[in-house]
Amino acid sequence: MSGKIDGACLCGEIRYEINNRFDQLYFCHCKQCQKTSGSVYLSNLFCEVGSLSWLSGENLIKRFDYPGREFSNAFCKMCGSGVPYLNANGTAIVVRAGSLNGKPIVETTSRIFYAERSQWADECETANTYARFPWGA
Ligand SMILES: [Zn+2]
Ligand SMILES: [Zn+2]
Repeated sequence: MSGKIDGACLCGEIRYEINNRFDQLYFCHCKQCQKTSGSVYLSNLFCEVGSLSWLSGENLIKRFDYPGREFSNAFCKMCGSGVPYLNANGTAIVVRAGSLNGKPIVETTSRIFYAERSQWADECETANTYARFPWGA
């Protein structure tokens, strides 16, 4: 037994609630996730179908299905944030982990499509760390 966790896009128009019990957290390094995120990888949680309830803004969701590979993206038309969607074969709900407003309870965490990782992915592991901007603002 576990409770619910809620999530939202950046502008707050799209809000949802989902069971806080995820089979998988995938840090996906595939080429499509690099483009979609504009970054090194996407953080995707997988959850069983039927566990999600939209609280608001479902009409603002835009979906994109990439041709030739099982890859989809769904995002807020207002702010561009990734939001949950049903995967292409209808077997799972994919949730952008960063859209959650709390800590997900996850069974297994993995990096996937690591062979496709960006050429600068390895450098992220050794980057300098600052609480805010490096100039102290
Ligand atoms: Zn939004
Ligand atoms: Zn991917």
